[in-house]
Amino acid sequence: MFIQTLIQKFKSIRDILDRVYIEYRERKSVQRYTPRSSGVNIKTQVSRLNVQNIIDMDNIEKHNIVLITLDCLRYSNLSFAGYFRETTPFIDSAPNKFRAFAAAPWTYPSVASIMTGLYPHNHNAYLHGKIKDVGNLNQFRAISRNVLTLPEILLWAGYDVGMVTSIAVAAYSLRNRITSKVYPGTAPAEKVFNYAEKWIKNSQNPFFIYIHLGDLHGPLYPPRKFRDYFGKVKILPKIRTWAYTKPEEQQGKNFEEYKYNRILLYDNTLRYLDYAIEKFYKRLKAIGKAENTVFILTSDHGEEFWEHAKIESKYFYDNRGIYGVGHGHNVFNEVIEVPIVIWGEPIEKISGVTNSISSVDIMPTILDILNIHYFAKLDGISLFQKRDKKRPILSEATGAGYEKKALIIGKYKLLYSPYDNVEWVFDLESDPYEHNPILDEELVKIFKEMLRKIYQKDEAEKISQIIKSRKLFIK
Ligand SMILES: [Zn+2]
Repeated sequence: MFIQTLIQKFKSIRDILDRVYIEYRERKSVQRYTPRSSGVNIKTQVSRLNVQNIIDMDNIEKHNIVLITLDCLRYSNLSFAGYFRETTPFIDSAPNKFRAFAAAPWTYPSVASIMTGLYPHNHNAYLHGKIKDVGNLNQFRAISRNVLTLPEILLWAGYDVGMVTSIAVAAYSLRNRITSKVYPGTAPAEKVFNYAEKWIKNSQNPFFIYIHLGDLHGPLYPPRKFRDYFGKVKILPKIRTWAYTKPEEQQGKNFEEYKYNRILLYDNTLRYLDYAIEKFYKRLKAIGKAENTVFILTSDHGEEFWEHAKIESKYFYDNRGIYGVGHGHNVFNEVIEVPIVIWGEPIEKISGVTNSISSVDIMPTILDILNIHYFAKLDGISLFQKRDKKRPILSEATGAGYEKKALIIGKYKLLYSPYDNVEWVFDLESDPYEHNPILDEELVKIFKEMLRKIYQKDEAEKISQIIKSRKLFIK
């Protein structure tokens, strides 16, 4: 008995030490990621572009916007998506729920896409290097100077604009474009929401707040009252981060036990997030700030739980030697399928749009809701507009190994990684878990050609824009 208590105590001390170490490491990385220049005047930045010529705000409808991103939220684990646990009863109750593809499989480029309505190759904020390495700061590029972000447009429109996040990299994507408050990754959603609530309370104008929550991003530390919500989680070594990252380890009883508990911990954390979002919404209602407010919830990418470990280790080079877990490393659906959920008094039911949706559609949807007309080229389409069923959807800009791209058209998906010698087309209807590429060279050729044309067209447009701006300058 005594020994058992001792083991239990040791486990919790180890847990506390782990937590302290994780926070220490994170603070260090925040220092690295935070730009040295401070106090940038965003309004001056916006005025670098001839805003009046590209934005028509004459008939703006000034609704407040609350945009919430749940980092690492995998679409299939939401209960409205058919998951076996009721993880998200509050989110399920929203009138508008969509399945979308994230423009990138990890935070940095993906947040930039949400905020610009552009794919990473068009906004430029991704890792530039043959072998992607998130530890190499030289590979990070900022959002292009000639690209306007949603917070900048809304600041120009007279909004109070703010951001709060528990994932530092999300703030890094938007550096110099928005003022942000950064909490450590272990900060629970309620803490981040408390800050947001205070910020909203103090706001005197229409407001836009971007809330980015890291609860589902390892290390997972859900509050005690939710930790065992769907069943008691066995606190195994590295249960809050990742273990069993090598294919040869991914078998046997211990692995199965770990996998079960890791997913259970993730689901319990998601249930907590749903609770925290409901609480936040009700508190805004109580202080009269939910009226005239549109809530949009999404995720920057999903999360892999070993679905493609074997395929990844066999076909894809990964400089970290990690296979089958997390995000950023590949563009299989578990990593790029995300929700877009919209509710709030100013919004009625959005009908007619059911597929071919990307996270780049979020920004044009918000502009549409506010009746702002934006004339610059966007990759996104407002969710109020019908789209072609065969609209090509991209996901790109990976964060480990070589660059991998997904091109989704209707039920087909091209997974393209030339340096890994991977050119696969999947039929997502007959093979939804992407395990059996279609062996048809002609089909692969057609999809590769479509991908090439998209990049070629975008390059040509970029060059013509540069020439146009030079001409304006000479005049
Ligand atoms: Zn993320």
